[in-house]
Amino acid sequence: MFLRRIEIAGFKSFAHRTVLDFSPKNNEQGSLAEKGITAIVGPNGSGKSNVADAIRWTLGEQSTKNLRGKKSEDVIFAGTAKKAKVGTASVTLFFENLDRRIPIEYEEVSISRKLHRSGESEFLINGAKVRLLDIADLLAKAGIGKDSYSVITQGMSDAVLSATPAERRSMFEDAAGVKQYQLQKERALRKLATTQDNLAQADTLINEIEPHLRILKRQAERASQGKDVSEKLLSKQIELYGYLWQTFQSERGGLSDERERLARDVGMLERETDTLRDEVAKLSGTLEEGGKGEELLREANALREKLHVFERESAVLSGRIEVEEEKRKDREEIRTIPVDLGYIRTTLEGVRANQNTLVERLGMVEKLEDIQDIREFARAINQELVDLDAKVEVGTVTEKVIISLPEDEKRESDARLAAYRTEQLALSQNMEALRAEITTKEEGIRAEREKGRESRERYFHIEKDLREKDRALSARKDALNEVKIRLARVEVREEDLINEVREELSMDVRDLSWDGNPRDKDALTRDIARLKGEAERIGAIDPLVAEEYEETNKRFEFLTHESADLRRAMVSLEEVIAEMDERIEKEFSRAFTEIAAKFEHYFSLIFNGGKAELVKTKPKMTEIKGETEGLDIEEEEESVAAGIDIHACPPGKKITNLSMLSGGERSLTSLALLFAIISHNPPPFAVLDEVEAALDEANSKRFGKVLKELAGETQFIVITHNRQTMREASLLYGVTMGEDGVSQILSLHLEEAEKVREERKKKEA
Ligand code: ATP
Repeated sequence: MFLRRIEIAGFKSFAHRTVLDFSPKNNEQGSLAEKGITAIVGPNGSGKSNVADAIRWTLGEQSTKNLRGKKSEDVIFAGTAKKAKVGTASVTLFFENLDRRIPIEYEEVSISRKLHRSGESEFLINGAKVRLLDIADLLAKAGIGKDSYSVITQGMSDAVLSATPAERRSMFEDAAGVKQYQLQKERALRKLATTQDNLAQADTLINEIEPHLRILKRQAERASQGKDVSEKLLSKQIELYGYLWQTFQSERGGLSDERERLARDVGMLERETDTLRDEVAKLSGTLEEGGKGEELLREANALREKLHVFERESAVLSGRIEVEEEKRKDREEIRTIPVDLGYIRTTLEGVRANQNTLVERLGMVEKLEDIQDIREFARAINQELVDLDAKVEVGTVTEKVIISLPEDEKRESDARLAAYRTEQLALSQNMEALRAEITTKEEGIRAEREKGRESRERYFHIEKDLREKDRALSARKDALNEVKIRLARVEVREEDLINEVREELSMDVRDLSWDGNPRDKDALTRDIARLKGEAERIGAIDPLVAEEYEETNKRFEFLTHESADLRRAMVSLEEVIAEMDERIEKEFSRAFTEIAAKFEHYFSLIFNGGKAELVKTKPKMTEIKGETEGLDIEEEEESVAAGIDIHACPPGKKITNLSMLSGGERSLTSLALLFAIISHNPPPFAVLDEVEAALDEANSKRFGKVLKELAGETQFIVITHNRQTMREASLLYGVTMGEDGVSQILSLHLEEAEKVREERKKKEA
């Protein structure tokens, strides 16, 4: 791996895009003989060191001081009298990476850094944007970080000598290649610190949450119990209310139907009774009037009166006729007459006549019964004779005497009788006529009566009908009223239910469903009362408690988990730290031993003798203050890594302190140390910015030799004014600065440059 080229644009004095190609030349076989030395030469202030700055900046240098500026934007070309400033500084380093020292799968890796005047900066690896951290990480792994020995200035090499042992140790750690472990360790330490903080925070939160969680849990349990109860209550209420509502509905429906039916009946009955009442009224009117019958009756009665008169007249006449006839009849008078001879004769004549008859009858007897009758007759004749004897004895006898009317009187009587009879006839004719008339009238009356009876019967029938209908009507009206009352009751219950459901469930009862199965209303009511009681016992709990408990519990579990994770993370971080410490110590010790040996070697090589050594020292307590608070002295000593002291004594001198060395000697000592470090862990490339400026010619030669020696492993880019050094370079870049204050690059291989110089000399001759 080596630095193939660098592209600079807008960086410090390099206003224009400038490319410096450091590709080493191949040997005759076409393979890379050595990474080589490139010398950058040019007059003071032409911009040579700006090239070193560009490399250092791109490798991630953050310190403006190290970049010889005050502000970060000082790296952007600021403009000159003749050239306007630019907005962006951009530098790209192109590395050949065949050996994959930079651990990514590219044969060429470009690392770019850009800074805009706006302050925005960009880092790119192979054109892809990355973080500065990614670049630092990648370069640390390749051993070419900003803190490594990739860019060394004169001041820096001197700084190795003037640094404290601890600072020096840090430099050695760079050289030992333990920086990556240290980075990892630092990261682990930072993580550990944050983890500790997080753990403390988590534990504090856990401690804060725990008691609250316990209370919340109890409340949440009660809330869940309450929720359970109120869910059950709600379901029971919905069941009951839904059922009741539907019951009321069907009850109301039934009652409404009944009301309709009854109202229809009542209407019908009212109409019917009205009609009947009219009829009854009409009939009763007719019945009261009496009608034709009465008239006939009156007429008949009048006729009867008349007949009566006639009858009386007739009776009188009959009487008169009777009297008259009586008068005319032979009157029988009971008289006491003497039983004289005349009387006896007459009687005997009668007896004789009877005897004759008896004789006759006897002659005519034919049957036995006839004899019986004749015997009776004979006895009667005999009795007559007995009776006559008795009468003769008495001398008198009372006897009916027929007295006949005298003839004149009889004639008068006949006249009267005839008159009477004529009158009687006339009367009886009249009476006959009257009777006929009366009969007609009576027939009329009977007919009328018959008619009246029918009307009455009809009246009574209708009236009965009316009464029945009235009864039915009033029964229907009662029933209708009853239904209306029941309906009103149902409506009131419905209204109550609507209000109850609105109050209890904040729902419209009409939205409640019912599956159609009948319910035990009383059982449900009992359940609801019981559940209400339970709900009351549980009491009102904020419904958000369960949610809060859930959230708090989740948070608690999360924190407990996190706390456990953090503890585990701390353990593994501590393991990482311990592992890194071990590695750092091991690598560092190995590097130290080797560098110490190389230092002795290069020191005596550059100084042509003398003695130098590196010594590990325990740090002074003042240097470690603050790092070890809370530890006892032994622990402090253990915990702090050893520093490094330099003992250097040029040949023939007795030097006990570095400060006693001359400027050149200091320079040589620091270069010996630099070479020791480089040879221990050859960086792929190193930029040396006038590090050999203080050397005399003999020392410069020796410096050049060592450089050449190390150039096999390390690519050197040397900024120098030193001719000896230039001679060792295989590539030369001349930096010039024109009147416009912009650096420019001239590239020449030394051989070509010398050829050019020779030709120029010849021409001049
Ligand atoms: P020397 O040989 O004396 O060490 P050098 O060749 O190393 O000199 P540098 O120090 O690299 O010179 O360059 C210094 C020059 O760069 C100065 O002329 C300075 O004005 C110029 N310069 C530095 N920063 C900027 C900048 N931001 N914009 C423009 N020019 C700058």
